[in-house]
Amino acid sequence: MAEIRVEQVQRVFGNTTALAEINLEVQDQEFVVLLGPSGCGKTTLLRIIAGLETATSGRVFIGGRDVTNLAPRQRQIAMVFQNYAIFPHLTVFDNVAFGLRMQRAPQQLINERVERAATLMHIEPYLKRYPSQLSGGQRQRVAVARALAVEPQVLLMDEPLSNLDALLRLEMRAELKTLLQGTKTTTIYVTHDQVEAMSLADRIAVMHGGHIVQYAPPVEVYEEPANTFVGGFIGNPPMNFVRFPVHEQAGQKYAQTANAALRVPDEAGREVLMGIRPEDFSISLTATSDALPAPVRLVEHLGPHLLITASLDDQLIKINADPHLSVRTGDTLYLQPNARRTRWLDPETGFALT
Ligand code: ATP
Repeated sequence: MAEIRVEQVQRVFGNTTALAEINLEVQDQEFVVLLGPSGCGKTTLLRIIAGLETATSGRVFIGGRDVTNLAPRQRQIAMVFQNYAIFPHLTVFDNVAFGLRMQRAPQQLINERVERAATLMHIEPYLKRYPSQLSGGQRQRVAVARALAVEPQVLLMDEPLSNLDALLRLEMRAELKTLLQGTKTTTIYVTHDQVEAMSLADRIAVMHGGHIVQYAPPVEVYEEPANTFVGGFIGNPPMNFVRFPVHEQAGQKYAQTANAALRVPDEAGREVLMGIRPEDFSISLTATSDALPAPVRLVEHLGPHLLITASLDDQLIKINADPHLSVRTGDTLYLQPNARRTRWLDPETGFALT
């Protein structure tokens, strides 16, 4: 069993608080992605779990064992880095065997493990080659095979696909997901790519400014972002946020739009933010009494859908619409936000109201 527990981990570099009291639990065999923009602390957190960086305070447990003061090689982990550092002077076989040789494993075990990892990563045909004779994607697979060959309980990966071109990255993402499903490894994977995170993760820890702002399965992070940062960081285009004044009537609170009142949570203050994804509007070209009028500013044909920029109560929003909708700049759309997919947030704190 290799569950990982990070307890109140803090990391300060001089004046910079890279990590502010992080708590994180990863279950045995779970695939967790640390996602966030550059500088949010994700690499620092991964390196602390690996033992390559020390925490200013806090503790790390792997498989119930307190590893806070243990060296990386005592933690039963394997790592794959951004530049995947495979050795150019070693053959693929010797690269994959490297960790096992370090552990002084017997030759027969080395042969078995290398064969298994090579089969899993589809690199058996290249075992005698040198890295310079491989494509970027193949080298990438060698790096992952090398990590898997030691059969680590925990696999830590820091942007392992970031050196690949877009198409290969897409292929490798799917491949990695398929391959890791066949192992019993607990994985923590660092990326700033939200699509990669959505695709790979059982749970995503969204990080911002040294904090984990939300830790939940991808669908929940997408549909119920904890705050405006998460709603804006995940999704392309990001979630729309539209500000409305709030009024109270018969003990209930409503967002007052140009021509309709929308029920909002009781905790709303004087103003409220409506968070809504571009695909969560019902669109009509004719006015109805409770639909929100939205003059169209721009129409972009993107193939599978139209991306429409429109103005809602004088605030710009993005709408995904059917590619065959007949609409032009200057037309007015009448929008019904899907109430079940609408998030209400506090404009002061940016956090969701329940
Ligand atoms: P990126 O995606 O750019 O790698 P990240 O989210 O992984 O970013 P970290 O590398 O963990 O971010 O850095 C978090 C913060 O800590 C940043 O402000 C960074 O400048 C700072 N930091 C990291 N390592 C050091 C160091 N050795 N000395 C000083 N500051 C550091």
